[in-house]
Amino acid sequence: MTETILNVENLHVSFKTQTGEVTAVRGVDFSLKKGETLAIVGESGSGKSVTAKSIMRLLPKHNTVIPEGSISYEGKNVLTMSDREIQGIRGSNISMVFQDPMTSLNPTMKIGKQIMEGLKKHQKLTKSEARQRALEMLELVGIPNPEDRLDAYPHQFSGGMRQRVVIAMALACNPKVLIADEPTTALDVTIQAQILDLMKDLQEKTGTAIVLITHDLGVVANMADRVAVMYAGKIVEQGTLDEIFYSPQHPYTLGLLQSMPKLHAKRTDPLVPIPGTPPDLATLGTGCAFAARCPYTMKVCHHFDPVETTVESNHTVSCWLQDERTPKEQRPVAVGGVR
Ligand code: SF4
Repeated sequence: MTETILNVENLHVSFKTQTGEVTAVRGVDFSLKKGETLAIVGESGSGKSVTAKSIMRLLPKHNTVIPEGSISYEGKNVLTMSDREIQGIRGSNISMVFQDPMTSLNPTMKIGKQIMEGLKKHQKLTKSEARQRALEMLELVGIPNPEDRLDAYPHQFSGGMRQRVVIAMALACNPKVLIADEPTTALDVTIQAQILDLMKDLQEKTGTAIVLITHDLGVVANMADRVAVMYAGKIVEQGTLDEIFYSPQHPYTLGLLQSMPKLHAKRTDPLVPIPGTPPDLATLGTGCAFAARCPYTMKVCHHFDPVETTVESNHTVSCWLQDERTPKEQRPVAVGGVR
């Protein structure tokens, strides 16, 4: 059995604001096995980036509250680690790639030096060993003339090349987990495909497990082994790539899939956007957070939050339609072909 490397259990994250506390993540559970890719998908504001940053302990200390939950990396709770312990893990065991490469790069420092810094700190390499490894990493991510490029500054690279440098930096210390938060969103389609291929290729070579945060189901289809669908701070459905794409059980998942352009669609095939907008988390009431946008809403949905139901082995869904306590005659229509 493949070893679980990261385990997130019942994670709640709130932010203190001037008008009170806002809960951005509401009881998230998932695990990640060695070498696998878990995609966390959802619209912006669904809590996926907050979840990712919690794993790295990158949320601002002054206004973040984590009242419940645990994040365990190789059996140790990241949330209770000392600052020193987490700094030791960040970059060497768990690395992160953001949407904007300039978030990770220092514009005033040559990129070779930036890659070498992590290697000297975490792997205790000498200067010449670190330079050699930085060179190898640039070669690995496909930077032309890597020897010369080591001495270039970030602004001397194109957007796609900068993201390659960030990936080189993130993978230089052979991390066991890579968290990629919308890594290709800012890039054009051709470069996006190249970066995704690069990540898959590097994953095969290094065995790094990836948590991929994205709103793009095309990227998910290309990369993921398993998928967690987030809405209003909760994972509403989780399963294998095939389960989510071919047998979606949650109306929100179905809505996301229907709003996605299909590869072989005719130009006349309409895309069906999900009506409405995600709820304001500051004023979230009782019941299912998707109720106002859901075409299948029942009375119970407005009063009680649905609990998680197991559809099949590791395929779970939080929706009253799939809860056995909901009488079948009350379920308005089938979702994903189940009923
Ligand atoms: Fe729709 Fe009700 Fe399911 Fe929420 S619980 S997704 S409102 S059917």
